Amino acid sequence: MLTTLIRRTMATGRHFIAVCQMTSGNDLEKNFETAKNMIERAGEKKCEMVFFPECFDFIGINKTEQVDLAMTANCEYIQRYRDLAKQNNVWLSLGGLHHKDSSDNAHPWNTHLIIDSQGETRVEYKKLHLFDLEIPGKVRLMESEFSKAGNEMVPPVDTVIGRLGLSICYDVRFPELSLWNRKRGAQLLSFPSAFTLNTGLAHWETLLRARAIENQCYVIAAAQTGAHNPKRQSYGHAMVIDPWGAVVAQCSERVDMCFAEIDLNYVENIREMQPVFSHRRSDLYTLHVNERSAEDGNLKFSEFTIPNSHVFYSTPHSFAFVNLKPVTDGHVLVSPKRVVQHLTDLTDSETADIFIVAKKVQAMLEKHHNVKASTICIQDGEEAGQTVPHVHIHILARRSGDFGDNEIYRKLASHDKEPERKPRTTEQMSSEAEVYRKLM
Ligand code: AMP
Repeated sequence: MLTTLIRRTMATGRHFIAVCQMTSGNDLEKNFETAKNMIERAGEKKCEMVFFPECFDFIGINKTEQVDLAMTANCEYIQRYRDLAKQNNVWLSLGGLHHKDSSDNAHPWNTHLIIDSQGETRVEYKKLHLFDLEIPGKVRLMESEFSKAGNEMVPPVDTVIGRLGLSICYDVRFPELSLWNRKRGAQLLSFPSAFTLNTGLAHWETLLRARAIENQCYVIAAAQTGAHNPKRQSYGHAMVIDPWGAVVAQCSERVDMCFAEIDLNYVENIREMQPVFSHRRSDLYTLHVNERSAEDGNLKFSEFTIPNSHVFYSTPHSFAFVNLKPVTDGHVLVSPKRVVQHLTDLTDSETADIFIVAKKVQAMLEKHHNVKASTICIQDGEEAGQTVPHVHIHILARRSGDFGDNEIYRKLASHDKEPERKPRTTEQMSSEAEVYRKLM
């Protein structure tokens, strides 16, 4: 049902894209002129989306310049890209903006921006893996000296050409990220890059094709090419790979563009023909993701961030927290740290863990509220009354005569929608959690 819904909301059929290869230097205007010509050319060719490489904005000659030239995503320079997207009716993937942040100007983010054909930002992905490499006598590039790593897994975004997973360059070496995107419904994976010459010669195409084959996704990799300054040179070979692993478009080493057709039906065909995802042995291994919200390290309850002060118990897999709109005095929730909708999505270890936590919480609640009974239930799926699509066990302290026959279940299914039930304040919730935390 969910898959049908996702499919219905996603782009279908055939789409045309342009993939750009640049030699960015430290002259922002010159880089912009190159990009502008490419966007206009893509627009004339009726491409729906144009992909730019990491450092499309600039490549500085040293660390100081990398930091000093960084900008915000709302600056005038990026506004010009937004205007071009609108004028040419294209979506843009701007891979790897040197993205200034008010909290730490010495280390900008490396941010992949997706801008729609109205010039609006659809999503921002901050590069998770920073490229620190030294091959003596050949290359030394320490990205962590002038950038900071993102902390957030960003789900794939629905674009005009299909559901797109976001990464940047060095991320391609960490297959878990692509696998997670595929599991979240990605049909396309993007790797805007500035691969060094040495690593490009050895690994570029192999890594990209592996990600395409194992995830049965199109892989779109815009690239930097040639000498940016006396110290830095990129490999080039921007390319598009289909979900069977064939390179369907490629630039050589000069500043250029390549064009490709994206056929989402082909993605479906490959997945039906060779359903590797249903052959995975999730009883033996699994992808474990510590899904936390961005900067603050708080846990996620679906799209909601649960402040640490509302959490009163946690284990490696699960956490217990107080309820926003409790149905009874003593109504709390236990969830897996991993954001998944159904109990059946949990691994055996997560399942064991969440029920052990539920038992401990139940014992604490009964003692604290001086009751001898509890209702413990999971509404698993929308039709079962689930309103937050993230597994959660309700634990409610029960008192004699507190609800009529099975009325509790009707109450649970509807309490969030009752206008008279107002969300509690964070102070109320934090002080309840503090009491439970001490008792746990
Ligand atoms: P269900 O209807 O089974 O999906 O239950 C969702 C539960 O989550 C309800 O009891 C809500 O009151 C509760 N809830 C929703 N948002 C939050 C939140 N941000 N913090 C704590 N509890 C929440």
